Order: sequence, then structure tokens, then C-alpha cells
Amino acid sequence: MSDCIFCKIANGEIPTDFVYNDDKVVAFKDLNPQAPVHVLIIPKAHYTSSAAVDDRGVWSDLMTGAVNVARELGLEKDGYRMVINTGEQGGQTVPHLHLHLLAGRNLGWPPG
Ligand code: 5GP
Ligand code: ZN
Repeated sequence: MSDCIFCKIANGEIPTDFVYNDDKVVAFKDLNPQAPVHVLIIPKAHYTSSAAVDDRGVWSDLMTGAVNVARELGLEKDGYRMVINTGEQGGQTVPHLHLHLLAGRNLGWPPG
């Protein structure tokens, strides 16, 4: 997707420091962090949202990448949250599938 900001981040068109990078996914810090740790994990392939995923391998790659990031950041002991906003009521603002990894404070429940 030539006009997708997260595709541009993933393919290097927008220079970004990656927290994690493998053959299928990349992770980078959120521009507007909602917690002391706020990392976005995205597939390199473009999917508009979770609802558009038709390949179970995408979930394997995304979740494995997210758990690897959590491990590398040493978050297991205190815990963390993973969130995938989907569509308008889900609060999705960027139409490229992404998983939020949030940590570093007590996260409220239920979410807003
Ligand atoms: P959503 O609301 O779609 O679940 O999450 C989109 C997230 O992407 C937001 O938390 C927003 O701060 C983040 N974001 C939007 N544009 C950029 C960008 O250009 N760079 C980075 N690092 N984060 C972005
Ligand atoms: Zn994209």
C-alpha cells in the first residue's frame, strides 16, 4: 500500500528505530505513548485491520513478535497488556493492522 504510513515505516521509507525486526513483523515506539512502555507491533504485509486477516500465520507471526518484544524488554514479571483496536468503535485510527504492547504502570480496566 503506497500511501500507508505503517507500510512506509515497515519498508524503511520512513526511517524508524525498530525495537524488534524479523522477516514478518517490526516493532517501534508509539508516537504518542499511553504508558511508560508503548510499542506497536505490525506485520510487514498490509492488512487493513484484524478483520481483514485471512491467514492464520499472520497471528502466529504477530503474537510471537509481540511476546518476543515483551521478553526483550523484561516485562514478564510486572506484566503488560496487548491491544488490537479494530474499526471505528474499536478506536482504530491507522488502517494497517497493529498490536499495542503497553506496560510500565497499572493499566485500568475496563478500558475507556
Ligand atoms: P490505533 O488508534 O489505530 O489503534 O493506533 C494507532 C497508533 O499509532 C496511535 O497510538 C498513534 O499514536 C500511533 N501513530 C500514528 N502515527 C504514527 C507514526 O507515524 N509513528 C508512530 N511511531 N506511531 C504513530
Ligand atoms: Zn500498510
